[in-house]
Amino acid sequence: MSTTQSQLLQRYGASLTGVFGPPSRVLVRGEGSRVWDADGKEYTDLLAGIAVNSLGHAHPAIVRAVTEQVGTLGHVSNLFTSEPQVRLAEELLAAAGAPEGSTVFFANSGTEANEAAFKLARRHGGEDPSGRRTRVIALERAFHGRTMGALALTHKQAYRAPFEPLPGGVEHVPGGDLPALRAALAPDADGATVAAVLLEPVQGEAGVHGWPAGYLSGVREATREAGALMILDEVQSGMGRTGAWFGFQSPEVTGSDVPVLPDAFTLAKGLGGGVPIGALVCVGERASGLLTAGQHGTTFGGNPLATAAGLAVVETIRAEGLLERVRAEGVRLAARLSALPEVSAVRAYGLWIGVDLAERAGADPEGGLAPGVVRAGLDAGWILNATGPATLRLAPPLTIGRADLDRFTDSLPALVAAA
Ligand SMILES: *Cc1c(COP(=O)(O)O)cnc(C)c1O
Repeated sequence: MSTTQSQLLQRYGASLTGVFGPPSRVLVRGEGSRVWDADGKEYTDLLAGIAVNSLGHAHPAIVRAVTEQVGTLGHVSNLFTSEPQVRLAEELLAAAGAPEGSTVFFANSGTEANEAAFKLARRHGGEDPSGRRTRVIALERAFHGRTMGALALTHKQAYRAPFEPLPGGVEHVPGGDLPALRAALAPDADGATVAAVLLEPVQGEAGVHGWPAGYLSGVREATREAGALMILDEVQSGMGRTGAWFGFQSPEVTGSDVPVLPDAFTLAKGLGGGVPIGALVCVGERASGLLTAGQHGTTFGGNPLATAAGLAVVETIRAEGLLERVRAEGVRLAARLSALPEVSAVRAYGLWIGVDLAERAGADPEGGLAPGVVRAGLDAGWILNATGPATLRLAPPLTIGRADLDRFTDSLPALVAAA
């Protein structure tokens, strides 16, 4: 590593809060599914900034949209609106197949979108004549973000414990277990009922784990019967990642050709193609009416710059036929990975793939085989990600070429051997 790169990493350590741990490289430039570090070393990016750079790096449509918009009107506050904001909301509602009366609230990140969803749940509970609809259900192994409300919905103890007390009323039930969910949806010993069930269509941070076919439609039915909102966190699964606009429309995710339309869903990551933006989509008039003037807000959310980027993402996914591409390349990549003896399981939803590595004879590298593969990958020019000691998560740009994906499958055995 050059002195510039190692010096910058050192200065990082001295000037940036240490919540992320030391970064592995200083990146300076990207193009398509390639990025380059400060030494000029090239990497093929199979993570896309954690499922964010859906169109890859420096896609001409994003560059054009953002450049034109910031040179025209970048920010106006929510005392005003702008055409990109209205158009992006319309596009998202149309893509979702949301009924008349559905609406969008724009935020700046996934955790903020989920905060808005949490407030939506509280408002639904607050409107209940019993005054006892106070509970919110999330799933074990769920990840919903790091702000206090989203953290209360997140399951991982290591993230939660240092920040207790968290907002109350949240219970976690095992995912994929409909009887457990139905039991939790019954009134508790004090007669309190459930305002909302909030879940990921596929759990990304947990290692790309989906649900048994019929689970999501079962949640839909059970929440409807119990008078609770069903809220999907599509922050990682949304915007084409699974080969459908949203996970709830993907047959692989739901186990059915019929979409499982929730009462609300949240978006972020891939929505802005790298520009920070999040959204809460309220499905139907009832959900849309729950948050009224003055009950929620944001200074930046939905500004012309971020929504112009979002529009460029939507238009490019459509113009380049990316949903079809993602489905085809995802199936091919998953099949090729499954055939490797180094791989014990593959969970694929479009270009969003959890890869479990087979146990290897002899001692595993410190921290596990998958983190070892990530390190070996960096040396060999790959940007990879491990969600656990034996699990890789692939979330490349939706635009990535087949040759890059094939080359990765061909390289994986050597990366495992080098880990
Ligand atoms: C990344 C993620 C979040 C948090 O998004 P931020 O933009 O990091 O706040 C929430 N939910 C899911 C499912 C995510 O993958």
